[in-house]
This record gives sequence, structure tokens and C-alpha cells, in this order.
Amino acid sequence: MAPSRRTVLKRLAAAGAGLAAWTAPSAEAAESPGAAPAIAPAGSSATRRRLADRVARTPMVDTHEHLIEEADRLRGGGQPRVPCDDWALLFTHYLDSDLRTSGMSRADWDRFTSPDEDATSKWSLLAPYWPLVKHTGYAQAVRIAIRQLYGVSELSTATIAQVQAGYERTRQPGFYRKILQDHANLESCQVNCITGEPFKPSAMPTLLMQDLSIVGMFAGPNIGQYAPPTGITVGSLGDWYRVMDWWFERYAPLAVAVKSQQAYSRDIDYARVPAEKAEPVFAKVLRKDKVSAEERKALEDHLFWCAVDRASAHGLPVKLHTGYYAGHNSMPLSRLSQNPGSAAELCRLGPEARFVFMHIGYPYYEEFLALAKQWSNAYVDLCWSWIINPVAAKDYLKKHLLTAPVQKVLPFGGDYIPVEPVLGHAVIARRGITLALAELVEEGWLMLDEALDLVDPILRGNAHRLFELARKTEALTRPGAGS
Ligand SMILES: [Zn+2]
Repeated sequence: MAPSRRTVLKRLAAAGAGLAAWTAPSAEAAESPGAAPAIAPAGSSATRRRLADRVARTPMVDTHEHLIEEADRLRGGGQPRVPCDDWALLFTHYLDSDLRTSGMSRADWDRFTSPDEDATSKWSLLAPYWPLVKHTGYAQAVRIAIRQLYGVSELSTATIAQVQAGYERTRQPGFYRKILQDHANLESCQVNCITGEPFKPSAMPTLLMQDLSIVGMFAGPNIGQYAPPTGITVGSLGDWYRVMDWWFERYAPLAVAVKSQQAYSRDIDYARVPAEKAEPVFAKVLRKDKVSAEERKALEDHLFWCAVDRASAHGLPVKLHTGYYAGHNSMPLSRLSQNPGSAAELCRLGPEARFVFMHIGYPYYEEFLALAKQWSNAYVDLCWSWIINPVAAKDYLKKHLLTAPVQKVLPFGGDYIPVEPVLGHAVIARRGITLALAELVEEGWLMLDEALDLVDPILRGNAHRLFELARKTEALTRPGAGS
């Protein structure tokens, strides 16, 4: 749905209002509650101001979120993904990890996110750890959201009641659209549903566009989840192919991409294993016989390419988690370090596929930049990376623009379950994009006009082309779509 003129004007006004503080913050603006955070130091150059202005006013496409439906969120706390319905919810994704690695105990964390604990007294649980983490990207996204949505600049005993009041005032029907469009100036989001459904039709289909999850097509595979809606009884590998076909035929026209996060449990070294080798293993899985690790890999590898080839035939890009793991005290860094080499092999084995390597493979982003330069079917998505390491994300973008074709980079994905910190993350991304472009101009790599011309492709044009957003929007607004 095209935004009305009134909505566009409202959004521009919001962007412009933030901009005054964003580009050349006065002491007063920086302190005033609700003011947008500064993108560049006071007295920043005309170059920075012009770029910041263009970046603030250009709507951005958000290519990765885990947002639950607004109606589900409004059902309140004590449900999966919404442990509590107060200000502490903003800290549950991803700031929980920094808090836990800074020393917060599991017991204190559980109390902090309990639906039964008094909202204002929760501050005393957070206070000892807040100074240790408040500067990280995870925390800055939350702080920006709290400042812009609730008008509170600093968390303290004195302000926490105001934070809770702001939370309640904001969390009302319609708040997704207000935060995502009016505040964050996002054109659309791409949601990877994590509540179980491979494809989740949204009540706001053109704002919360959806990925088709393929991970269960090869991990397991998850017959119990994928087969029942199709009505197909799976007694052979051929039946499983038909189940996959059903999902693609039904949802490929509506989905923006397919998505797999299997890199959380293995490397992405998927070989092209022939059906004859996969068939007997699949039969064993059906019989619930013991399957060796080697057999399981062969079956997964075979089915991965079955899913990827189907995605390519249906014109869907393939989004793969690469690099850093959410969570704490668990990440096997040596496995992640293999992702770039395996990704190059995927590009070679799947010339028809368009691979979107998510999260810049952090911390191996230099390697993923090399992939974007070398392989015509490799795209790199900065989603999540602006809050993992804001400086690394800026560094990636800056290097990408001098190294690889510009259309191979995607700018932003909040990667959040709660909607509020998406705003903070988007502000951080815009700040980083502006800085990357400004530094390239200041260092003499780009002319200002060239940098200004790159803003639209980076923020929205690349995603529009790769995910065919105009065509998807049309399909999603057709009567009966998504039912
Ligand atoms: Zn994610």
C-alpha cells in the first residue's frame, strides 16, 4: 500500500525534527528528552550535514526482523518471546547477553524479566550492571528507543517510573506502524517468523513482509511441522519433495526470500549429494533408526540444495545466517571461522542461487567482502551487525563501496523480537551509513555528489531490486493473498 501524502509529510517532519539534533546538536538539543541522538559531533561539516539530511529523509528497507505479530505482543507478558510486559522487555533481546557476560546472575535475570516483579523495582536488579554495558551497541539501541519514545535520557532510580509510563503509553494498538514507519522511517520489514510456522501471514502484510523458512526442510527434516498443512503423508523421499513443492508453490509468490539459520548448529558446507545417497538415510529417519553424523550430513546437504534450487526456480534469494551467534557463553568461534570458505563453495555450487550472507559474517567481514567482490551471486547483509559492533559495520560499508559492486550490500535489519529497539538500531545504522559516506568524501575517495547519489541505492534501492519488492507488494495486496 502506498503511504498517503499525509503520512509521508508526517514522516518527513519526524525525520526533520530528529535531524536538527542529529546533525548539529546544540547542548540543549542533546540534553532535551526525546531529542534524536547526535550523528556527528557538534559543529560537524557541511558535508556531514548534507549526507545526514539525505540519510535521515530516505526511507530504509529493513531486511531482517523476528517481530511477532502486533496482536500477539498486545496479549501481554508471560508468553513465549514476551516474558514480561514492562520496560524490561526491551532488554530481553539482545542486551540480555551483555548483561549476563558482565556478571548478572541467571537468578537476577529471571527476576528482572519476570511478569510478577514490580516494574519500577526492577531497576535495582539492573543498576549494578548498567554502567558496565550501557555503551555497547546492544545497549545503545535500547537507550535511543527509550529516549525517543519515552523522552528519558538516562536510566536511574529517579527516571525509571517515567520509563515504565512511557512503555505503557507507547505499547498500544498501532504502535508497530508508529515506531517502524513514523519514528524509524522504515519502508518495510522482512520478518523471519520464529514462533514455529515456516511462513506466517501477517495482519500487516506489506509492512511485515515474510521470509519462507527452509531450515526444517533439511534440518531433521522437520516432517511434523511441514507435512501436516500439505495433507501429504510422507513415506518416501519423493513424498518429501512434494511437501517442499507445496510450500514453494503456495508461499513463494508472497515471500521475499527463503531463510536458514542452521549455521547455529553446523557449518554451511553443504555438498551436492545425489538423491541415491540421501534416499536410504531418509528411509532410516522415517523408521526412526539410528543415523550416523556422516549420514545426517549427507541427507541435510542433499535436502539443502533441494530447497535452494526450488527457491532459485521461484526467484527467491537465499538468506543464510553467517558469523556471530546470539546468546552468551556458547559460541564455537572456530566453526564460524569456516563460514566464509564454505560460502564461497556455495556460490560455486549454486550459480543460479542468489545468496544473502547475513550479519556480514561478523567477525569475518573482510572475507565476506571478498566474496561480494568475487561472486556475482553473493550479497552481504549488514542486518544485526550495527549493534554487534557499530564501528565494524561502518568499516564494512565503507570498504564495500570501494571494493565490490554497490548493489551487493543490504543496509539494515534490526533482527529484533520486541519492536521498540528496532528504532534505536535504525538510528545507529543511519549514523554509521552517514559516517561511512562522509569519511569516503573527506578522505578523497568520493565526491560529495557521488556519495549523495549512493544513499538511495544503499537504503532502499538494492533491497527493492533483489527482493522485487514492488511485485511482492502487489501480490500481497491482491484479495485473498496470504490466507
Ligand atoms: Zn535473526
